Amino acid sequence: MRMEAITMQPQLERESLELASLLQGSNRTVVLTGAGISTESGIPDFRTPGSGLWSHVNPIEILSVTAMRKDPKRFYDFKIPLWRSFLAAEPNPAHKALADMERLGAIRCVITQNIDSLHQRAGSKHVLEVHGHMRTGRCQKCSRRLPFETLADRVEAGDCPPHCECGGVLRPDVVLFEDMLTGDFEKAVQEAFSCDLMLVIGSSLEVSPANSLPQNARRVAIVNLGPTQMDHGACWRSRSKAGELLPLVVERLNGKAGA
Ligand code: NAD
Repeated sequence: MRMEAITMQPQLERESLELASLLQGSNRTVVLTGAGISTESGIPDFRTPGSGLWSHVNPIEILSVTAMRKDPKRFYDFKIPLWRSFLAAEPNPAHKALADMERLGAIRCVITQNIDSLHQRAGSKHVLEVHGHMRTGRCQKCSRRLPFETLADRVEAGDCPPHCECGGVLRPDVVLFEDMLTGDFEKAVQEAFSCDLMLVIGSSLEVSPANSLPQNARRVAIVNLGPTQMDHGACWRSRSKAGELLPLVVERLNGKAGA
């Protein structure tokens, strides 16, 4: 363990210098984040072997519109404790570093596949949520919105599936398998086409169509522990933990740490 700590430090320093230099050389950088940026906040991702959610469930069976419609009790019994744990999580140093980068003008926006709102809670202002979020739910008939907590409380009190006053069925504002993506996806496509650099953080890039975004960017840089679908096309990549690397990059951008 001690050997690892000694050998990792120079690598982090080198990578932070390289990534800061990439950001400084780009006029328009956008960031694409996935579940991996929130693992250091205690939220499991989908595909990390052993701890990823897909190690335990078949997501299509549980996280699809069909699953929610056919067996709402099973759907909510699985999802509500998980979503409540997302809401209890706190932003980690990687989320905070991205908020700092936005304040410094080093990045234009964060496009996220996550539904945990941790970018906004860390201070990021320009966030595109292509898979929705857990702040609200909505009626599928009249589109009236209600706080997610109210929806969850009603399900847990036995109102399952929960109904709106108009008689329609309520559902969470997260994108499930078989759903269309949110309106933010179109904006994300524009950002991808018009950026100089897309920095991908914590995503295996296996989920479509979000994984098409980097293909539209001029250049792609990746910070991801495991392999991704775009490794071959990236101009730069790191296998470091986002929460360890990104704060060092902010230090470099701030002119500290010898940058
Ligand atoms: P994924 O699980 O397919 O990939 C996550 C990647 O992050 C993995 O390749 C892993 O090696 C890497 N990773 C894990 N911890 C890391 C760290 N500390 N630093 C750097 N890399 C790290 O996730 P995905 O590509 O985002 O696709 C999964 C889908 O699951 C997304 O659509 C997302 O909406 C949803 N999801 C969201 C959350 C959340 O909101 N926090 C959590 C789980 C799943």
